[in-house]
Parts: sequence; structure tokens; C-alpha cells
Amino acid sequence: KHQVHIIGGGLAGSEAAWQLAKRGFKVRLSEMRGSGDMTPAHQTDGLAELVCSNSFRSDDADNNAVGLLHQEMRKLDSLVMRAAEVAKVPAGSALAVDRDVFSAEVTRQLSALPNLEIVRERIDTLPSDGLTIVSTGPLTAMALAEKILAATGQDSLAFFDAIAPIVYHDSIDMDVAWYASRWDKGDGKDYINCPMDKEQYQAFHQGLLDAPKAEFREWEKDTPYFEGCMPIEVMAERGVETLRFGPMKPVGLDNPRTGRWPYAVVQLRQDNKQGTLWNMVGFQTKMKHAAQVELFRTIPGLEKAEFARLGGLHRNTFIRSPILLDQQLRLKKAPHIRFAGQITGCEGYVESSAVGLMAGIMAAHELAGRPIAPPPQSTAFGALLDHITGEAEADSYQPMNVNFGLFPPPEGKVHKKERKAFLTNRAREDLATWMDSYGLSTDN
Ligand code: FAD
Repeated sequence: KHQVHIIGGGLAGSEAAWQLAKRGFKVRLSEMRGSGDMTPAHQTDGLAELVCSNSFRSDDADNNAVGLLHQEMRKLDSLVMRAAEVAKVPAGSALAVDRDVFSAEVTRQLSALPNLEIVRERIDTLPSDGLTIVSTGPLTAMALAEKILAATGQDSLAFFDAIAPIVYHDSIDMDVAWYASRWDKGDGKDYINCPMDKEQYQAFHQGLLDAPKAEFREWEKDTPYFEGCMPIEVMAERGVETLRFGPMKPVGLDNPRTGRWPYAVVQLRQDNKQGTLWNMVGFQTKMKHAAQVELFRTIPGLEKAEFARLGGLHRNTFIRSPILLDQQLRLKKAPHIRFAGQITGCEGYVESSAVGLMAGIMAAHELAGRPIAPPPQSTAFGALLDHITGEAEADSYQPMNVNFGLFPPPEGKVHKKERKAFLTNRAREDLATWMDSYGLSTDN
């Protein structure tokens, strides 16, 4: 009889299974592909299939948060990183793989573990007892998604993302933009406002109409997501004034430099506790990424904007983790169930794998009677986990890639040029200390 039941053999589930089974725990890994079921994006029966790009993004641990996460995962003997090494293809400073070799290597390594039973079956209910890890991904089969919805409550499970772009605060020109809430409500720092005159607004409106958009996928077409989160370009198509009466409404926003309301305004709202990330309110969009960067940099105050995330709209099943999960990734209402991977609201192959790795290690320590605290927030692992389980963002929770904006800023003054070196060095030291305190080394 198994000690842990893992549902979903994608990136997160495979990584969690590896971390548990190689530590000697008995695991059942249930994967529906191979039993006659398929998701709308997968094409094979292989474990850890990469459904789209073949890239794990930057491998640069000194300059990129996802590269740092790679490095941390290697320190914790990640199966995904091991298999990526075997399946690697040339991609400059990025880590890219041959997807078939990658999936085959993950499957081979897992199949060699005597404690692990891989079962091709679809699971339609949440187990009522026994340690469980749910890692069924953004395309979780509908019956189980409905059971999760019933267990977590309405508004706690999203089926789609409507993503507005997120800008790094230090790339906003505050000589042009200003802090204010409409009619001076709130504490005065709630929104950053970027003003537009009539000519700028009209050019921007035309830009929205002209920009190349990503195509809807076949299975995305019949979706109800236009109700609450209409893409900005769809609103623009309704008429030149629609946005000025919607998300770009200028009323009640005195521009301190002119003493008057601008013709139109783009508002940004704080997106993380540290105040390093700000999202563009109402700017969910299906415009192509390059077109977004080009057009949004025409907004006064955002000429030099750097984006932590660009806008998008797509099918994505994920739970409101900041409310539902504890710091151990356990469902507060039913703590025998952990969630891992993209269904927790992280975003990306690497992040999903990383959360699977953490869920596996946390479950292993729980089984051994030696619970483990999450890694410090100053590490890439900890920053990612804090985004998922930190309560600060519960209301506006949206999936996000790992990025330096999620790390606590340096306490003292650090020159902008030295910031990344400071953050990555601190992360390495703090991860090492955390690993030492739990006797973790690369080979356990
Ligand atoms: P998955 O890898 O999807 O694994 C979940 C597994 O659970 C699947 O194997 C599925 O068959 C299985 N399953 C589902 N329901 C059940 C059930 N009831 N019973 C048993 N098994 C079940 N990220 C990137 O970094 N780069 C990209 O290019 C990229 N492209 C994407 C494209 C699409 C269309 C989608 C939907 C997502 C994309 N992502 C991308 C986001 C994300 O990184 C991937 O979806 C990633 O695979 C998530 O890992 P996961 O382990 O959480 O889920």
C-alpha cells in the first residue's frame, strides 16, 4: 500500500514522485494519459511532457530569477533538471531540451524506482484520507476540477487567466506619472496614474486596433471569459470612447503638474507586498508580446517600462492558493491534501516543477515526523512559495513566473547595478543555511 498518492504525472507530479520515492517512501502516481484520456494540449503518453515551447528559459543564475531557480533545484537534486541535462539542445544562455528525450528520461528514471508505482488512470474524486498531492495542472480533467471547486468553495478555482501586464516599479517615470486614487480616496499611494492627452489617446486607441493578436485555440473559443475580463483590444473595438469611460477613465484624477484631469489615464495598482511590481489595471490582452511592449511604451511615464509579465488570456485551472493553502502547500480544510504545480497558481514549466519538488520534500519530512519549514523568502524557492501562499495578494491572485520583484528588497542601500548580485548571493547563502539545518544535501 502506498504512503502518498500523487495525482497527475506532469512536471510537478513527476518531480514530487522522484523526491518522495528516492527517499524510500511508497508512492502511487496516477496519470490519466495512457488510459484513453488526453488533455487538449498534450500529444503523448509520456510523463512530464512539455506541451508548448521546449525551453526552460534562462539558465543564467547570476542575472535571472529563473536561472537562479534552476540552480536551487539542482542543489536539491531535481529530476527535471537531471533530465534536462540529458536532453539539452544548444540555446545560448537558455536551457532548452529535446522534448521527447526529456520526457523519456523522466519516465525512465521514475520507472527505475522500486517504491514508485505508475498507474495509468484518471482520478475523479479527492481522496478522503491518506497523504495526497494534486498536480493535475492547468488542464485538470473536468470531473476532478469540479470536485476541487466543491471542496474549496465558489470563487476559489479559476478556469481561465485574464492577465494584465505587470511593470517593475523602478522602470516607471515618476516625473510623468503620479500617485493618486480617484477623488483622493485611499492613502494616496494606491494607484500610479499615467496621463494622456487627446492626441496620445487617439493614437493609442488606433494602436490597440492595429496590433497583432494571438489566435484563440480551438478549445478556447467557446469560453465564457468575456464576462468579467474583456481584453482591452475588444473594448477598443466597441468605439473610440469606450476605454475613456472604462478602465482609462480620467475623472477625479487631478494631474499635479497641470492641476486638471488628463484626457485619459492608464492606472497601475500595486501587485506585491514589496511594492516592486505594479499591474496595469484592466489591461488584460491577447496582443502579441512584442506588440504589447511596443504599444505600452508609448504610454506617458512608461516609455522605459520593463515588464515582469505581459498580458494574456488562456485556459488555466488554478486555485486561490493564498487563501486555501497553508505554507506547507496543504489545503487548510483538508490538510492530507497538498497541491503542486501550475494548479497552485505558479506559472511555467520550471516554477511548476519547483513547486512539485517542494511539495515532495515537505510530504517526505511530514511522513518522517520531521516537518520542514519553507525555504527563506530570499531564495528563489521561498519567493515563489511566498507568492503562492502569502496572504497579501489573496484578492488579486494571478499566476506569475518567478522574478526578482518577488524577493524582499535589500535592507540597506544597494546600487541598482549591484542589486542582482546582492539578491543572488543572499539567496545562495540563505538556501545553504536552510539546507544545512535540515540535513539536506544533493544526494538525499
Ligand atoms: P502538467 O504538466 O499539465 O501535468 C498535469 C498532468 O495531470 C497531465 O499529465 C495530465 O494528463 C494529468 N491529469 C489531469 N487531470 C487528471 C486526472 N483527473 N487524473 C489523472 N491525471 C490527470 N509553460 C512554460 O514554461 N512554457 C510554455 O511554453 C508553456 N506553454 C503552455 C501551453 C499551454 C497550452 C498550457 C496550458 C500551459 C503552458 N505552460 C507553459 C504552462 C505550464 O508550465 C505547463 O502547463 C506545465 O506543464 C505545468 O506543469 P504541471 O505539472 O502543473 O501540469
